[in-house]
Amino acid sequence: MKIGFVGLGNMGLPMAENLAAAGHAVAGYDVAGIAAAGVASADSAAAAADGAEVVITMLPDGPILRQVAATLVPAMAAGAVFLDCSTVDVESARAVAGMAAAAGLAALDAPVSGGITGASAGTLTFMVGGPGDAFETARPLFDVMGQKAVHCGPAGNGQAAKICNNMILGATMVATCEAFALADKLGLDRQAMFDVVSTSSGYSWTMNAYCPAPGIGPQSPADNGYAPGFAAELMLKDLRLAEMAARAVDADTPMGLAALGEYAEFVEGEDGRGRDFSAMLPRFESRRRR
Ligand code: NAD
Repeated sequence: MKIGFVGLGNMGLPMAENLAAAGHAVAGYDVAGIAAAGVASADSAAAAADGAEVVITMLPDGPILRQVAATLVPAMAAGAVFLDCSTVDVESARAVAGMAAAAGLAALDAPVSGGITGASAGTLTFMVGGPGDAFETARPLFDVMGQKAVHCGPAGNGQAAKICNNMILGATMVATCEAFALADKLGLDRQAMFDVVSTSSGYSWTMNAYCPAPGIGPQSPADNGYAPGFAAELMLKDLRLAEMAARAVDADTPMGLAALGEYAEFVEGEDGRGRDFSAMLPRFESRRRR
């Protein structure tokens, strides 16, 4: 397929390279002038989109996505698919889909989970909103960049699935870390805590697969000095998107809001920036009751 790729950062670069390595003709553009192996360098977003059957964006946030979409959509060929893989607010995803539809194009919002490792290995999971036929057009690309793509419904539903998942993840990580710190203060050995909880009703992905306690459970960023992994500031971004969405539809999300408060303090008031989101554990270890 002929593909345009805009946003060649930590995630976009390996995704574009995997598409090129699989034999697709990829033209890439990044405002920072990043070049990707096997990818033709375009000198603007519009040039990358020229003649492409699918145009993929992997950008930092909703306002930038809207800006880039405004230049991409008029440059896209009739019948092409606009495939945004960034994590953005539901409203921006739906606005971009509207912009594309007005120009006779189909748009998919397809945020990912799996992080930089998944992007490099081609094992991402895509959560996809938008028309079913556009999903089928993009399916071979999802197969190259990832291991799973779930069609979640109409425009915006991919972002909805992503922020609901990450709201659970953020709240669960806070709960897991505060429980470990409580266990420490109660004199309960961490290995014993893990052995019980990981096989009892308190088990979770954060405990069983991504344990925040160094030396306990499977390998995780905790065993690597809390180097990300999934950086605390990205978790903060996603919790803010969840809060924004919850406000927009008048949903009561107290645990999401509490997790947002913890990550905001950690990233913006303490030393959380640049650390894995599981570094909440050493944070709780050093705190007293508030
Ligand atoms: P990044 O900051 O490394 O990459 C974004 C790229 O977009 C940068 O290279 C930047 O130069 C480029 N860019 C910004 N404005 C542009 C413009 N106007 N035109 C062209 N290029 C422009 O971020 P990332 O880690 O690659 O994340 C990308 C998206 O994926 C974000 O929405 C993020 O939330 C999401 N995401 C990231 C991870 C992760 O682990 N990094 C995991 C899941 C989802």
